[in-house]
Amino acid sequence: MTQAERIELLNRVADRINERFDEFLEAECKDTGKPYSMASQIDIPRGAANFKAFSEMLANQPTEAFKTDTPDNLGALNVGHRRPKGVIAVIAPWNLPLLLMTFKVGPALACGNTVVVKPSEETPATATLLAEVMNECGVPKGVYNVVHGFGPGSAGEFLTTNKDVNAITFTGESRTGQAIMQAAAVGLRDISMELGGKNPGIVFADCDLEKAVEGTMRSAFANCGQVCLGTERLYVERPIFAEFVERLKARVAALKIGRPEDESVDFGPLVSQEHKKKVLSYYRLAVDEGATVVIGGGVPDMGEALNDGAWIEPTIWTDLPDDARVIREEIFGPCCHIRPFDSEDEVIALANDTDYGLAAAIWTENSSRALRVAEQIESGIVWVNSWFLRDLRTAFGGSKTSGIGREGGTYSLEFYTEHKNICIKL
Ligand code: NAD
Repeated sequence: MTQAERIELLNRVADRINERFDEFLEAECKDTGKPYSMASQIDIPRGAANFKAFSEMLANQPTEAFKTDTPDNLGALNVGHRRPKGVIAVIAPWNLPLLLMTFKVGPALACGNTVVVKPSEETPATATLLAEVMNECGVPKGVYNVVHGFGPGSAGEFLTTNKDVNAITFTGESRTGQAIMQAAAVGLRDISMELGGKNPGIVFADCDLEKAVEGTMRSAFANCGQVCLGTERLYVERPIFAEFVERLKARVAALKIGRPEDESVDFGPLVSQEHKKKVLSYYRLAVDEGATVVIGGGVPDMGEALNDGAWIEPTIWTDLPDDARVIREEIFGPCCHIRPFDSEDEVIALANDTDYGLAAAIWTENSSRALRVAEQIESGIVWVNSWFLRDLRTAFGGSKTSGIGREGGTYSLEFYTEHKNICIKL
């Protein structure tokens, strides 16, 4: 297909997702338990937008060309040429199933590849619905493929070890990333990895306190804390520490947990009973490690009809030592630890004292300080006075054990194509 034909087709796919919006919404909420109010604002519209945005970026991508001098003075012309890589394995997690999967499938198809998608075993529905949409829109057979199954010893491992797969793009846990990287080494296949995080939030005394509390409510508790970019470690400058903790506690106390279809709820249950066991084990560990539980720490009473669900209380801790496992390991639940700090240097060292390097949020009204601190934070993304504000043209990804490579904008086009330089002697 020509690029223009592909772009037209992918725009149709985006339109068709929006036409079938309610079906996608219901499928995503049933699989994850997240509120309709969130998925209708984020997961589904942004999932559809991924097809349009990357098509548009590709259409506006210039061709690289360099003129080279030669001894005969006639020169040579170098022309950059991009080819699709071939078959891309897309291995996706359960926390934002459609959104994160299409963030890969959109650019991969725009660039002319075919994809084999392996959604998480927890959240298979929207990847399947998307296959129906692809068929309805006339995407040729074999271009968008879905295989369902588990990871190790199942569909995931089959894909990553399959020699007909030319490149693997993965979003999930850092440990899984390591296993996939080992599999990709056989045959030297290219990889892109978006992995876990233990992201710091840094609140300076000169912040707009209301904005900082509001932003932290989202960054620590949105999607029941199941966001890779979420804040699980908060550092608050000492003069405002007590007030910040009190304000955040009051906001958490007012959070409403409930069924996804209830428009008034802030979040639903965790994704699964297995994940609930994991998060609860960290709630217990926090107490064992010496935490003061500011609020939460257990399982809410949702009433007889609902109590079997994977419900969990939003939780805030203080007073943990810096080497506590609760501060060092990704929990992926609605919880955060808050620690006071006294200086910029101290908080930068604390923020960087982690194996992860995905995202950070800084709250201050002093823009020189914001830039100075942001530059020293070891992470792929730093938000200042905001969180999860995404422009699809920007680089997305993590450093350290949070990832390899970047996606988004031209970085995606880079990963999903093979660059060839054609040198023509004139
Ligand atoms: P996971 O690693 O358990 O699973 C992700 C996917 O990998 C699933 O489809 C799973 O079946 C598959 N898989 C597991 N083992 C495999 C193997 N050996 N070979 C091939 N495939 C395998 O992650 P999860 O629990 O679904 O998602 C939560 C994690 O994802 C958290 O760590 C979170 O931080 C991370 N995450 C990162 C980003 C990011 O952009 N950096 C975004 C979302 C989630």
